[in-house]
Amino acid sequence: MIPGYIWWPMRYRLSCPAPQTHHFHVALELDRPGAAAGSTEEAWLPIWTPGSYLVREFSRHLEGFEATDEAGRSVPVTRLDKHRLRLDAGAAARVTLRYRVYANELTVRTSHLDGTHGFVSPAGVFLAVRGREAEPHLVSVELPEGWQVATALPGGPAEFTARDYDELVDSPLELGTHEVARFEVRGVPHELAVWGRGNLDLARFAVDVQRIVEAQAAFWGGLPYRRYVFIVHLAGKGRGGLEHAASTVLLLPRLAFGDQEGWEDALGLVSHEFFHLWNVKRLRPAALTPYDYGREQYTRLLWWFEGATSYYEQLLLVRAGLLPPRRYLKALGQLLTGLLRTPGAGKLPVAEASLMAWVKHYRPDENTGNSAVSYYLKGELVALALDLELRRAGHALDEVTRQLQARHAGPGLPEDGVEAAVAERLGVEAARAFFDRFVRGTAPLEPALDVVGLRLRRRAAQGADDRGGSPGKPVEGPVPGWLGAELSAGPRLLVTSVREGGPAWNAGLTADDEIVAEGGWRVDKAGLAKRLEERGPSGAVRLTLFRRDELVEVAAPLAPAPEDTAWLEPVPEPTPAQQAAFEAWCGAPFPPR
Ligand SMILES: [Zn+2]
Repeated sequence: MIPGYIWWPMRYRLSCPAPQTHHFHVALELDRPGAAAGSTEEAWLPIWTPGSYLVREFSRHLEGFEATDEAGRSVPVTRLDKHRLRLDAGAAARVTLRYRVYANELTVRTSHLDGTHGFVSPAGVFLAVRGREAEPHLVSVELPEGWQVATALPGGPAEFTARDYDELVDSPLELGTHEVARFEVRGVPHELAVWGRGNLDLARFAVDVQRIVEAQAAFWGGLPYRRYVFIVHLAGKGRGGLEHAASTVLLLPRLAFGDQEGWEDALGLVSHEFFHLWNVKRLRPAALTPYDYGREQYTRLLWWFEGATSYYEQLLLVRAGLLPPRRYLKALGQLLTGLLRTPGAGKLPVAEASLMAWVKHYRPDENTGNSAVSYYLKGELVALALDLELRRAGHALDEVTRQLQARHAGPGLPEDGVEAAVAERLGVEAARAFFDRFVRGTAPLEPALDVVGLRLRRRAAQGADDRGGSPGKPVEGPVPGWLGAELSAGPRLLVTSVREGGPAWNAGLTADDEIVAEGGWRVDKAGLAKRLEERGPSGAVRLTLFRRDELVEVAAPLAPAPEDTAWLEPVPEPTPAQQAAFEAWCGAPFPPR
């Protein structure tokens, strides 16, 4: 008996004796009171993790299975399929299954272990036991000298309990010597645990994160947890977050915090994942209730759960004074620009983009923009459009959002739940017309910006890096011709995507083509931009390129650039009603500053 050992019917002992090899060692100890002779146990691992709709096949990283009974006798382990194992445990009163997990993928939904830290994404590390999922699960950790644990699970410093397997999967663990900041909101403790070096001023960051928590607590009317943990990873590349019920994991570029844009982007990610603790964790699609970790689950509502969350991510930052309204309007202009530049938005309804998340959003390729639309991007703009329609009728999306939570948290949001709540305010016909056009259909989205004293303007893009959101520079000199291809920024000039129906598309340019010359002369990205300017919209280019390993020539007649670049501006003579509506919407005075 180990001193201080607590008996527990299901316990994982997690260790990492050689973290530099990226292997977690797990021992799953299972108590089997009254087990019959010849009986078996089935252990299984999720193939996906909630919040990230891709089959990741976590089981491919598990190895070295060995099982023993309470007397140390070997228990046979047989693989049943890609993610299930059988243990022929017979009458054994207790079985211990040992295995290792290779953890070397640094994202918010996969596990990572090296000499500096460990991050446990539980779906890929802890095997469940069939029939025992509803029992409490205990996790004991044995760590290198000086390492600590940050997790939302109660317990510590080395033992943590989850009330069931769902809570375990929903509770990642950060292990290491992370920097920690703490604050309280409404008497509830919050913890920020940061791994990785960079230019983040943690004390200053914690102040702004606290303001986000306060703003969202005010929006929702309270905080529905006993403690919340932000796990922050700083790395050289990548950006993303994954939401959990009482924690979140955020991956941010380590040097992102030096300017206002980077700072606001990081706050946006915090705000987004935090909002999810209500919108997709406590309230989730009924179609994902309960979670089925063994197969894909389908809903048409991700446009709501991601889109509305993205909408409030920004809007609540504005209302909290963390994002100036003028910069918010710039961001909205960039979103509208993104939608205008997505031919797929005219083909795939956002409800279907949600349904197809598993094979489209999470598996993008060079044709994604032509065939699909992001339910984040369009979902956020649909939420804006819905909010403006509701405000025109004297309501607001705020009421709908809170009502859905109050009404459906627990059993889950029915597929028609958002429309039903909107219909209560706008009427059944108007609600159906809106959802038919913009959610189930692909009609061009035109948010009623006049309600809040704004209007949409459009122009052609000015160069490859023009993301819209501003009026652009005054146009002087020649108007460049338009090719309709996205090009890489690296030393090799690669085509990354081609806009359907544009000149490059019609000429047969394709992703991965490497452009080396135009008109017989070597070009780089800036050189090609210059040629497009010289030739103008009625000119043509003659491109020499490598397609795979073959040198080919492609002639492409150019075209005038489409007006696919949008920005928002205040209407010249706003009425008092428009000004009041803007202030109610953004919580800031009109005109936006
Ligand atoms: Zn999200």
